[in-house]
Amino acid sequence: MKIKAALTPEKGAPFVMRELSLAEPMGNELRVRVVAVGICHTDLNSRDQFYPMPLPAVLGHEGAGVVEAVGPAVSSIKPGDHVLMSFGSCGDCPSCKTGDVAYCWHHMEMNFSGLRYSGKAWDIPSPISMTCEDGEERPIGGAFFCQSSFASHAICTEENAVVVEGDLPLDVLAPLGCGLQTGAGAVLNSLKPGPGDSLAVTGAGTVGLAAIMAARIAGCDPIIAIDTNPDRLRLAMELGATHAINPADGDLVEAVKAIAPDGVKFSIETTAHPKVFRAAVDILQVRGVCGLIGGAKLGTEVSLDMTHILFGRTVRGILQGDSAPKQFIPRLIELFREGRFPIDKLERFYRLDQINEAVADMKSGATIKPVLLTGAAQ
Ligand SMILES: [Zn+2]
Ligand SMILES: [Zn+2]
Repeated sequence: MKIKAALTPEKGAPFVMRELSLAEPMGNELRVRVVAVGICHTDLNSRDQFYPMPLPAVLGHEGAGVVEAVGPAVSSIKPGDHVLMSFGSCGDCPSCKTGDVAYCWHHMEMNFSGLRYSGKAWDIPSPISMTCEDGEERPIGGAFFCQSSFASHAICTEENAVVVEGDLPLDVLAPLGCGLQTGAGAVLNSLKPGPGDSLAVTGAGTVGLAAIMAARIAGCDPIIAIDTNPDRLRLAMELGATHAINPADGDLVEAVKAIAPDGVKFSIETTAHPKVFRAAVDILQVRGVCGLIGGAKLGTEVSLDMTHILFGRTVRGILQGDSAPKQFIPRLIELFREGRFPIDKLERFYRLDQINEAVADMKSGATIKPVLLTGAAQ
């Protein structure tokens, strides 16, 4: 079928609206009419080739919509179901077999190869194809995070689709599939702080603010938000931070020590800047844990004080907040319904064809979480 999509034509280029072709779902795949899709930094990092996603491609990995068709092997999802799409995992590797799907040994191939998984290898061309200048129809990079949802329609799999109740707002919930579960999961699944534990978050973007909301749910105190944008710090305070630090005002480590003299028990690093990561480790108390979430370009290095680490401190990489989406997203939806996870305060809505404007607002800091509305399902 013909679809409308925001295509990434080449490295670093603006998105271009194009009509493309989408194959039928096969095996365990679903075709979803996309209602809304969040924009995440991993989309932009993939566009900029921090990761080896083949281009041209359709990116987008926080899609939400309505199932239109299912492949012959699908048993738990049917046409008409409302779904949120999350990351892909193979289902067969040692991590997947223990339910730790965020650490699928084939995370890169499942999410960044641009190809479909046949159950043995990534040897099936993307479901998306484009009519090229010579008139030939050729496959382009698709299956990004098993969805490529910057489009009116997407192919995902039974594994990475989470069915949600039909009365829920798909536009508000779309970003749960990546950014919000990443931040909240880092606190609730990975670090698991208890009431009264100190926790600091570097970077108050979507992931950092989700971590702050989760830290409030966990009863952390103090909850220290660190960002250079005063508006984001204000929002962080509204969402649960007890203290806000702007590193532009002076030494970050000293500012944290003024609040937690022995350092914090937990820190969460979301900025992907080596110097900020270093600070997130330097502010830890003895036996403290720094959760690293920020996605830096492949090969980025950092220097750490070895003696500081020796005192029982831990640096822990965290992907997707350790989430198993089919279990964790419903839990976050429950918290949203209770008013304890007010993700709508982070979001601003744009039409799909306003994607470049949305990206510019995200980069300038004017918008924290842009969500694109395809208009296909109204
Ligand atoms: Zn796996
Ligand atoms: Zn993401």
